[in-house]
Amino acid sequence: MHHASDHVKADFRSDTLTQPTDEMFKIMQQASRGDDVYGEDDCVRSLEAHVAKLAGHEAGLFCASGTMTNQLAFRASLLVPPASILCDSRSHVFRHEAGGLAAHSHLTVYPVKPVSNQGHHLTVQDLEQEFVDSEFVVDDGDVHMAPTRMISLENTLDGTVMPLQDVQAIAAFAREKGVLLHLDGARIWNAVVAQGCELAEYTRLFDSASLCLSKGIGAPIGSVLVGNKALIQKARHFRKMFGGGWRQAGGLAAAAEWCIEHVWPTMTQTHALAKDLAEGLEQELPGATVYTAVETNMVFLDVNGSGIQLSELSRHLKTKGIEIGNRAAPDSQTQVRLVLHWQITRAHVDEFLEVVQGLAAQAKRTGPQIKSDQPRKRVYGSR
Ligand SMILES: *Cc1c(COP(=O)(O)O)cnc(C)c1O
Repeated sequence: MHHASDHVKADFRSDTLTQPTDEMFKIMQQASRGDDVYGEDDCVRSLEAHVAKLAGHEAGLFCASGTMTNQLAFRASLLVPPASILCDSRSHVFRHEAGGLAAHSHLTVYPVKPVSNQGHHLTVQDLEQEFVDSEFVVDDGDVHMAPTRMISLENTLDGTVMPLQDVQAIAAFAREKGVLLHLDGARIWNAVVAQGCELAEYTRLFDSASLCLSKGIGAPIGSVLVGNKALIQKARHFRKMFGGGWRQAGGLAAAAEWCIEHVWPTMTQTHALAKDLAEGLEQELPGATVYTAVETNMVFLDVNGSGIQLSELSRHLKTKGIEIGNRAAPDSQTQVRLVLHWQITRAHVDEFLEVVQGLAAQAKRTGPQIKSDQPRKRVYGSR
């Protein structure tokens, strides 16, 4: 049988593009076939219990997407307006969830710019500053205000890791101020591997955490929300209200379990490959920049000043079966996010670098390239 994506050998656009393997379909065939809305599917219940245990929480809820597990966490934790939430100004929950914070939970968002630490990650200093600047709204009975009830953190964010000790400091701050703490842990698995700690060391610091299984973990579909029993029960109720109750989801849960066991341990190699790709790119493409620290599975590349066009690179890679983020990009675009995952091998990275080498040699023959000094908006995006 032919599939639309069969010609793609290596897809660097996102770690969501991992494809279910024959082995996963075999596992799915053997999975339980109960109705999860009835709470009767064994594989779903077992995945929820397993992830909750790994994360050091009482209960878990397997859902269709990370957007859903984030949004359910807010809705189920906060219940009623008026309220506000603080989060990193770059965060997915604020920028990439279709305004869900306002729509589902009636929340006013105070996006906080990470300024300490060269903007690498949000720190307790950044939050304390918000407290001083009164973006952090104290619940003192002032009827004009929407009291801050929650802080949401994202880890990893653009592939960078929030160090455990900084998260610990924020957790202490949140407790002291009496606000809840949520983790958008779409890629917390990567952060754990990079930090070299246990998953629960991070996730236990939060009242709720959303963990995606369809990104670096490589599962076909799904995310798990973890928290205490009362929260998960509430979230289950709201999930039904949102139309997200699903029926025979056992196959998906079984595939996700397989991925936690088999794919997660390969993440160290994926991170090493990302570093090698970044180093290779800087070596083969003088003038280009890798503009964000490569700490996990993402490489942000700007080809400006290297003499090659991104559109050209992407066309040449495509002939080798390698996809990157912006095949259809206008020639003026120079930045791209490259995302590595378990289905990208050293051979793919070598092939990628060979294409780059060929183009760079060609560019060298056509003369030096002046770096454009036009100010650019950095391309990010945590989809
Ligand atoms: C992908 C992602 C999500 C959720 O995405 P879904 O596509 O809804 O599963 C949430 N947060 C971050 C940081 C993400 O990268």
